[in-house]
Amino acid sequence: MSEVRGQRSEVGDRIPPPVIILGVPVHPVTFEGFLDVVAAFIAAGAPRQICTANPEFVMTAQRQPEFMRVLQEADLVLPDGVGLLWAARRQGVELPERVTGSDGIDLLAERAAREGWRMFLLGAMPGVAEKTAAILRARYPGLNVAGTFPGSPRDGDYPEIARRIKAARPDILLVAYGAPQQDVWIARHKEDLAVPVSMGVGGAFDFVAGVQRRAPRLLIRMNLEWLWRLVTQPWRWRRQLDLPRFAWRVVRGGAKMEDGR
Ligand code: UDP
Repeated sequence: MSEVRGQRSEVGDRIPPPVIILGVPVHPVTFEGFLDVVAAFIAAGAPRQICTANPEFVMTAQRQPEFMRVLQEADLVLPDGVGLLWAARRQGVELPERVTGSDGIDLLAERAAREGWRMFLLGAMPGVAEKTAAILRARYPGLNVAGTFPGSPRDGDYPEIARRIKAARPDILLVAYGAPQQDVWIARHKEDLAVPVSMGVGGAFDFVAGVQRRAPRLLIRMNLEWLWRLVTQPWRWRRQLDLPRFAWRVVRGGAKMEDGR
């Protein structure tokens, strides 16, 4: 982020100043604004990282300094998670809407098809990224998915992944290894991969490919997507304990504190 702020470039001008929530910067952008920032990143060409933050990210970052650093240095942090909208409002800042990776992937693909941006889908279980690519190509004719590969965030897999990505020369790299691994992985490798936009998308391929069912729209509108995930993926309960912990920290007034302590 410092690079973007420092340059006061055309790219930087498109990104409103972040609200700091327990030390994590979150940018007040809409889906539309997000797509415009992506366009500016691609036009500028230097490697940039986008993260989709939610309260679980924020709490994980309190425990893992490396992840906190990744979020603080990311070029754009999207408010993916209604808890962040609530926490920002308590600081007197309005985050305009939830900008989720799960919805963002479709909007990105639609814009990519129009603009001719090349996408690479990395991660998820074998076959899922390919299926996601096929579905997105069918939905958005002309979409150029330059490559898909499951791979893994393990170091031993990196050479093969790097070879494939460099050969495909994508404009956008979507990484589905789950948080925080995917975001840490991107931060570690983005300079070498030199893709203009890299973004961690969690379970987004699983949703597009139909491996996981996304919460019904009504529940999403009622801000209950977290409850749906708890019921359909009960093994997440331990992680989701972070939701009440997050609320407690914010209510205690910690949302204003940079160090989150
Ligand atoms: N995943 C993967 N390799 C790994 C760990 C995870 O490909 O070593 C994939 C997994 O198949 C799924 C995604 O990463 O598609 C993680 O989804 P999840 O919903 O857990 O991510 P979150 O939304 O919690 O970040």
